[in-house]
Amino acid sequence: MRAAIAALRSVDKTIGFVPTMGALHEGHLSLVDLSKKNTGATVVSIFVNPTQFAPGEDFEKYPRTVEDDARMLVEKDVEFLFLPNAKEIYSEGAATSVHVAGITSEFEGAIRPDHFDGVATVVAALFNIVQPHFAYFGQKDAQQVAVVRRMVKDLHMPIAIVVGETVREEGSLAMSSRNRYLSDEQRAQSQLLSRVLFQIRDSLINGTSFESARSEAMGKLSKEAPIAQVDYLDLVDSETFQKLASFEGRDTGTVVLAARFGNTRLLDNILIKRT
Ligand code: AMP
Repeated sequence: MRAAIAALRSVDKTIGFVPTMGALHEGHLSLVDLSKKNTGATVVSIFVNPTQFAPGEDFEKYPRTVEDDARMLVEKDVEFLFLPNAKEIYSEGAATSVHVAGITSEFEGAIRPDHFDGVATVVAALFNIVQPHFAYFGQKDAQQVAVVRRMVKDLHMPIAIVVGETVREEGSLAMSSRNRYLSDEQRAQSQLLSRVLFQIRDSLINGTSFESARSEAMGKLSKEAPIAQVDYLDLVDSETFQKLASFEGRDTGTVVLAARFGNTRLLDNILIKRT
């Protein structure tokens, strides 16, 4: 990978990088499209990073479909697929980790305590290997975006972070490699997650308080998606991920939602912007 990158850089090619854990879907491919459009060579990595899973999470079970993934990337004319193994990323005795404080203390960070240290560490390592000019991340994982942006800024990494919009299935469920775990009933009810987010966005823009928009959404979820167990539904500052009580007087914010359907956790969010 290093040699390939050196060759590209020596002829002034702009390098775009899309880090993934594989089981690729249209969400990932939309980031590939962005990179293909804006750069001279695109590197996609597939690495199911063990350090971002807690014991008992779905690391072993995480879908691994590398042959299908490779086929999709060939169709997209991606120049490089980087498939490191865990020993290559974490050498024997590896002892360094990147911790982004504050942003990681709530939401996914509270529910999955070591998750973002794993994410930040592997993204830093991959950035050092791939040395991209641009790196592409999905709005779908909004807290991850905030963590990566903070890390890049704090560590003066010479990489521009580009965020792609959330790609949704028909019916508006945010695409995720984990959607394949859903039963028909769970899938049907999970469509409500995005719908309540759209509704909250419209309510906030129209001047409804977050408190009442939230309680209406929770009511709707418990009535129309009774099997969903909501972990959180909150309004946050998009950069710091600190909770906000209200949208009044603000231009932007993000409403974040996580819910469990059986053993499957689904995340979604909506960026709210006053125009
Ligand atoms: P993952 O393979 O789940 O680690 O995701 C790799 C990248 O794809 C991350 O930057 C995700 O935020 C992004 N991504 C995942 N799902 C979607 C989606 N539905 N729309 C846009 N980007 C996504």
